[in-house]
Amino acid sequence: MPVPMLDLKAQYQTVKDEVLTRMMSVIERQHFIMGSEIAEFEKAIAELSHVRNAVSCASGTDAILLPVRALNLVPGDEVIAPAFTFFATAGAIHNGGGKPVFVDIDAGTFNVDPDAIARAITPRTRAIVVVDLYGQMAALERILPLAEEHGIAVIEDGAQAIGARRKINGTWRMAGELPTVGTFSFFPSKNLGGWGDGGMMTTQDDALAERLKRLRLHGGAKQYHHEEVGLNSRLDTLQAAILLAKLPHLAGWSAGRRARAARYDEAFAGFAPVRIPLTDPANEHIFHQYTVRVERRDELRTFLQGRGIGCMVYYPIALHLQPCFADLGYRMGSLPVTEQAMEEVISLPIYPELTDAQQDEVIGAVREFYG
Ligand SMILES: *Cc1c(COP(=O)(O)O)cnc(C)c1O
Repeated sequence: MPVPMLDLKAQYQTVKDEVLTRMMSVIERQHFIMGSEIAEFEKAIAELSHVRNAVSCASGTDAILLPVRALNLVPGDEVIAPAFTFFATAGAIHNGGGKPVFVDIDAGTFNVDPDAIARAITPRTRAIVVVDLYGQMAALERILPLAEEHGIAVIEDGAQAIGARRKINGTWRMAGELPTVGTFSFFPSKNLGGWGDGGMMTTQDDALAERLKRLRLHGGAKQYHHEEVGLNSRLDTLQAAILLAKLPHLAGWSAGRRARAARYDEAFAGFAPVRIPLTDPANEHIFHQYTVRVERRDELRTFLQGRGIGCMVYYPIALHLQPCFADLGYRMGSLPVTEQAMEEVISLPIYPELTDAQQDEVIGAVREFYG
């Protein structure tokens, strides 16, 4: 039985009526740009993330770019980020005028190593972008004090972690709640996916929220008045309508993902060729991806693909080794933990609609490969 890496059609069947009803309301009103659903959705995400302000934008990439733009970087200003992440994290730093400074990750969680951040801070450091990779939050309680000590901003790239939380000093803190700016993506394959592109920024800082709102609308709060040059980066009203209809399901979907992760954990526990992912005990993980480390990764990948079983390598080439960043001077060996991860990781199908039978097929195929 083939098992897709992700089955958006299965989810579509479960939410179709609610989503189409909300979309039709926008269509009947013909209010496609900044319709009332935008403010309604921003309010809903602000509540979910325990923040004073949520500002929507056109993509998860722009959600990082806009706060980087708000830093007013000058050439040579540095922004620290992990190299083991989706390209957008560093692309946004570059496009916002910053010089990415790549640091290594923690071998267990795949999240950025706070000690590596501490070592990378220089007088030119203006911000740190942390990523909540695969759906569990980074160790913000160690990173935020560093940033505060040096007077630099923290952008939390939560594209894979909407609704995830972490217990910090005895209190549950949501992804996007604590940093200078938190960011989310509504790319269709994300845990809360639209039917197109979309993004969101969260912040407790009211003045910064106003600035981000200007920057997403050509730099002008008032039409035809431009205090600065911004972007055209609005969330589409139709996407907001779709996401509003889907949002009430998010907590249940995340629980479904956790249940499937627990099932994989159990199936591979004690099975030497497969090392199951580590969840930091402080985290409530939302398993955007279930990513294991394996022996002979590329052979396993070919084997699973031959069986029609979806699998992906996130990420096969870390960002410090990308040709576009060659002039930054990194080479193989610069970030050893990252480089080992990019050679060993493979992500297996995980989504709320994945059936036990489908999951057993994946587990069986992996076990069969290793004999
Ligand atoms: C998906 C993703 C982004 C970018 O989001 P888009 O909506 O595709 O622009 C940024 N960072 C990470 C870690 C992501 O997974």
